[in-house]
Amino acid sequence: MKYVDEFRDGALARRIGDNIATEVDPSRDYSFMEFCGGHTHAIARYGVADLLPPNLRMIHGPGCPVCVLPIGRVDMALRLALDRGVMLCTYGDVMRVPASDGLSLIRAKALGADIRMVYSPLDALKLAGANPGRDVVFFAIGFETTTPPTALAIRQAERDGLENFSVLCSHVLTPAAITHILESPEVHDFRTVPIDGFVGPAHVSIVIGSRPYEGFAATYRKPVVIAGFEPLDVMQAILMLVRQVNDGRAEVENEFTRAVTRDGNARAQAMTADVLEVRETFEWRGLGQVPASALMIRERYAAFDAEKRFELNYRAVADHKQCECGAILRGVKRPTECKLFGNVCTPDTPMGSCMVSSEGACAAHYSYGRFRDIPVVAA
Ligand code: SF4
Repeated sequence: MKYVDEFRDGALARRIGDNIATEVDPSRDYSFMEFCGGHTHAIARYGVADLLPPNLRMIHGPGCPVCVLPIGRVDMALRLALDRGVMLCTYGDVMRVPASDGLSLIRAKALGADIRMVYSPLDALKLAGANPGRDVVFFAIGFETTTPPTALAIRQAERDGLENFSVLCSHVLTPAAITHILESPEVHDFRTVPIDGFVGPAHVSIVIGSRPYEGFAATYRKPVVIAGFEPLDVMQAILMLVRQVNDGRAEVENEFTRAVTRDGNARAQAMTADVLEVRETFEWRGLGQVPASALMIRERYAAFDAEKRFELNYRAVADHKQCECGAILRGVKRPTECKLFGNVCTPDTPMGSCMVSSEGACAAHYSYGRFRDIPVVAA
């Protein structure tokens, strides 16, 4: 398949791996964070880590949209479906995220709640049109990639005069999260998590462009290389990061030139800005409250805001005591350092959000067997 097969060439991957091994300085360590769950998935699936020298470590970041969703937001959706009788629509991965009281959306569906899996907010819009007597709520999650379709659906609902459609908006922003990580004590004081640079998101950057990363690359002196999701993209980005570090540069470079430009998709940005605005603060699983890191629906479209329509209040809920998702999302721990990994917690029985989506660090490690160092823990 064009643009896929040529980026999965094993011989080429080994050649890039050899270049990386030749160019790394053996007297120092390198640590790069892949922000995106898509990169985490590619690294685990294609064994990218096996091609890297031992003094180069990849750290998983918080860029898996399902993983960063705090329990409190899933609880809000659950209450709408269980107590308020709405038809709740959302993406498939969200359905299995563990919430309060041993519930998840899929368990609530088994209890009789009307919860539907959809592929896009426009599917939810169709359901609202077909069920005029029901309140239909789309539980919107994700980074800048999935935000424009939500904005489009809200505008379409207004145009169609759909009064029974609303959105529980939980969209989050990438640059704010990266800044938060760079400001965290673990990274800022260079103690537990030394980060020398970032592999920047692919799909998010198609929408927002590479420009938003320029500020913190300069301010924090951290190189960023935006990369596609195929294994050769990731390998090439790592080589570009090694070269920047060796040269003492901290620039934004774009490996994913076949899709990402400096300014991104202006139409998608304008549509998003028309419908959504930045929230003062938002809780991320693992990162806690992060200022200006999420979006909410503008007053002009308040009729489509489920939080306002159903007078919902957010209540923070702590994660499962033994789940290390928070530490993993901050890059402080690896999945194999969680005592529940692979025994109590598996993709079939996820105890935390990082085991739910294929983009989650725990699911990626589990699915592709990258856990040879797993400690033996009694279930
Ligand atoms: S293995 Fe399961 S319980 Fe442990 S950190 Fe990952 S998701 Fe949480």
